[in-house]
This record gives sequence, C-alpha cells and structure tokens, in this order.
Amino acid sequence: MLRVQVRRHIPLLHYMVASYSVTNIQKPLQNVHYTKLFINNEWHNAVSGRTFPTVDPSTGKIIAHVAEADKADVDLAVEAAKHAFKLGSPWRRMDASQRGQLLNRLADLIERDRVYLASLETLDNGKPFSVSYQLDVGETIKIYRYFAGFADKLHGKTIPMDGNYFCYTRHEPVGVCGQIIPWNFPLIMQCWKLAPALATGNTVVMKVAEQTPLSALYIASLIREAGFPPGVVNILTGYGPTAGAAIARHMNVDKVAFTGSTNVGHLIQQEAGESNLKRVTLELGGKSPCIVLADADLENAVQQCHEALFFNMGQCCAAGSRTYVEESIYHEFLERTVEKAKARKVGNPFELDTEHGPQIDKKQFDKVLSYVQSGKKEGAKLMCGGERFGDEGFFIKPTVFADVQDNMRIAKEEIFGPVQLILKFRKIDEVIERANNTRYGLAAGIFTKDLDRAMHLTQALQAGTVWVNTYNIIASQTPFGGYKESGNGRELGEDGLKAYTEVKSVIIKVPEKNS
Ligand code: ADP
Repeated sequence: MLRVQVRRHIPLLHYMVASYSVTNIQKPLQNVHYTKLFINNEWHNAVSGRTFPTVDPSTGKIIAHVAEADKADVDLAVEAAKHAFKLGSPWRRMDASQRGQLLNRLADLIERDRVYLASLETLDNGKPFSVSYQLDVGETIKIYRYFAGFADKLHGKTIPMDGNYFCYTRHEPVGVCGQIIPWNFPLIMQCWKLAPALATGNTVVMKVAEQTPLSALYIASLIREAGFPPGVVNILTGYGPTAGAAIARHMNVDKVAFTGSTNVGHLIQQEAGESNLKRVTLELGGKSPCIVLADADLENAVQQCHEALFFNMGQCCAAGSRTYVEESIYHEFLERTVEKAKARKVGNPFELDTEHGPQIDKKQFDKVLSYVQSGKKEGAKLMCGGERFGDEGFFIKPTVFADVQDNMRIAKEEIFGPVQLILKFRKIDEVIERANNTRYGLAAGIFTKDLDRAMHLTQALQAGTVWVNTYNIIASQTPFGGYKESGNGRELGEDGLKAYTEVKSVIIKVPEKNS
C-alpha cells in the first residue's frame, strides 16, 4: 500500500525538483515515508514507543518523526538476524548466485526510484540535489552491482600442506553483522556496508545516523520488495550511546563495522573487547594533507584542493583539510583559492546550480564556527567566509584561512566543515614530516608534474589512499580505509570482502593406500 503511494509520487517529485520547491516535497512525504524500525521485513514501532524528529538542515524545520530504537529493539533485530542466519534457513540454503541476483534487483529498484531517493537524501541531509542524484544514488547503484558480482566468485584454495592430507579453505560468512553508519553520505555509507555483507552471505543489523534516517528506511522497503528473506537485513533508527552501543556490545553480534568519529571508534573497539571480541572494522576521521609542489599545474591544483575540502560542505572523512603549498607559489595559489571559495554557489540545495548546502545540524554548525574563532584567536589569517550564510538553516560560507601553523587547533583537529587551511612549506622532506605528523592517516593528495617526486611522496605518506593530481576519487573497485587512528580494515574492492568472511581450513586425512 505504502509502496503504491510512493510510486505515484515519483513523477510528482520530478516536477517538484524542477520547480525547486522543498515544501512541496515534504507534503507527499507525510503520506509515504517510512519512519518505523525495519525488523524481519516488517515495520515496527520502538518497544518504548518513543520517536525523535529528523530535521531539514536548510530550514531547521522538522521533516518527520521516526522510531527511536534502544537496547530492547536491538535485541529483537539481532534475534531476527540470528534466526535468518541459522543453518538450513532460506538465506543459508540460497545459491550464492541467487544472492547476487537479489543485490542486482535491489540496484534496479534504486535506479527506478532514483529521483525520489535523491530528493529524500537532499531533504534530510542538505546536500545539493545534483550531487545526491548523480553521485550519491549513482554510486549506490554501482556499488550494489559491483558486490553482486562477487557473490558466487569467492573462492577458497587447495593447499599442498605437509603430510598426507588434503587441505582446502572455505570463505564463510561471519554471521550477524552490526553496522553503524554516519550522516554525511547516508545512502553510500549504507551500501558500502550492506553490499559486501550480503554478497558474502551474512545477516545484518544496521543502525543509521540519527540525523539522516529517511533514505536508509526507504532502501529497507526496497530490500523487502527485492525479495530478501525476512531477518537478513534489519534497519534501526536511534541514537549512538543507546542503540549503537547496544549493537557494539551485543553478545550475539559477530562483527561490527563502524564509520564515524575517531572518539566513538575507540568506544566501539572497547565495547567489542569487553563483550565477545566481535570482529571490528572502523572507518574514522582524518586530517588529510594536500601537497602542492611549485611545478604543479596551478589551475588544476587550486581547483582540486578547493573540491578536496569544500565537497559535501567539508563533511567528508577524507577531506583535504591541510593544504600545504610550496613557498614560491604560495601567494598566487592563495589568491586563486580565495577567489574560488568566494565564487562557490551557496544556497537552496534543490536549486540545480547550488554547489554548497547547509551543515548537517546546529551542533555541527556551532562546532565549525567555534573552530573559526579558535583559528582567528591563534593568529591564522581569515581570508573569506567564517560566518553564517542567510538567516535560516545551518549554512556556513566557504572559509579560507592563510598563514596557518601546524600547532594551531584548526590544523590538528578534524573540523568537518567548510574551512580550508593554507600552510606554507619549503622542502619536500619537511612537508613529508609535517604531513605525517598527525594521529590520522586516511588520505593524501599530491600535485606535481614531476613523476619522481610524486612516486617518492606516494610512498612516504602514511595514508590509506594517495591521490596524484586529483582528489576524492573513490570507486567501488578500489579499497578505502585508514592508517593509524583513521581506522582498521578496508571497505570497497576485493579487500572490502575480507572483513565479512572467516577463512575455514578443512584438512582431510588421505588413506595411505586403498584397502
Ligand atoms: P558524528 O560526530 O559525525 O555524528 P559519530 O561518531 O558521533 O559521528 O556518529 C557516527 C555514528 O555512530 C552514528 O550512527 C551515531 O549514532 C553512532 N554513535 C555515536 N555514539 C556511539 C556509541 N557510543 N556507540 C555506538 N555508536 C555510536
């Protein structure tokens, strides 16, 4: 019933997006959005009956109230996932190729409802609609399809072990996977975790971010429509310290995958250690350096460093948040960078030429502006921005600081907002040392035409991904994750499957001779 209503509204949303009307988009949502907990392929109120509001960050107004899960709901979801994982269950008996087909069907349904999903994403998260449509939903479709292909291609090995034995390995699913995701890329973060877990035959209890529950719940409705058996995917909305922590310390959750802040990453690892030593993968914060050498293509370097930081309003774990520029080109680079930041189009995310929407919520908005104050106080030079844009919602003007020093708070801590920091360097060895002098190690960018120096830097930088003459290029095929306190394990690519399988060695005695 609900689905029929959604389908009817999709052409309507097409029209609404074209006419840039956010209030009109909310109207049909009141009839069709999914706001309850998705457990065992059914929609449930929270056991406590509690709900919480989700807010449109471009106006600060409430879009909808969603169910607030806590430990009791996590218990129900884990029970459903455990049951669905039982040997002999429809999911465990299913051919691996069929799992792949279900994932492909899910991708087809997402493609069918692409405009609706992109609209929900923009409404709930604030990111420009053109980005939601092209990138967020586009990549989501690709990622489900990429992992669908792996479902029946996970091979073990036969191993010529010592002795008279036949040894082979099986890559088996880990079991019930708890997955906790953030708000900056709700659909993409959901598929980075769901797709490999399902391709490898696990069952899932996912808690989505409290700021952005709507697109994830709509995906839940498509999971049911695609035909996944009950209990294979369970999606909960709720807060971190209650629902999230209940997953991390649950004795029947076999693995937890988390993306979010480094501080919460520490807690998750601790909770896993204090409960059942569940497997832990973490994708955490960053303070990624962009290094611009004097011989770089300046136009490209300015553009890439600008996007490296301002893309998604600076709310990217891999944001290029320390821009190191070689002394001889520092002034020209700075001038062009400030020009670009001033020209970035800020405004209603449903307008198709908007490049820059609001921060996710009041808390992040306040936090970013407090970093601006701290930068000014510590002596960095504010070149542009540094204040709110407009008079409603959580918009912050693109901000550039010059003359930033490594020991300033803004250069050390993750701001997660539209604040670009320009730092000066003189020598390659100096910049390597400064770039690596952080507890993080998620990503890095290098801008130069000199291949030898590029190679030297790619090897010297401690980061899970190093981009050369480009930035923020992430694809389903390439592993992504962090060194040091930026995380544990990798997502995407073939490496992304490792976290979702146990390797079993089977050793069979071979008779000496036929009897
Ligand atoms: P941010 O500060 O960017 O919101 P968080 O790390 O706080 O990042 O949140 C990322 C995800 O982790 C969200 O789904 C959030 O609800 C969840 N979370 C927050 N605190 C905890 C916790 N103590 N245990 C488990 N999950 C948590």
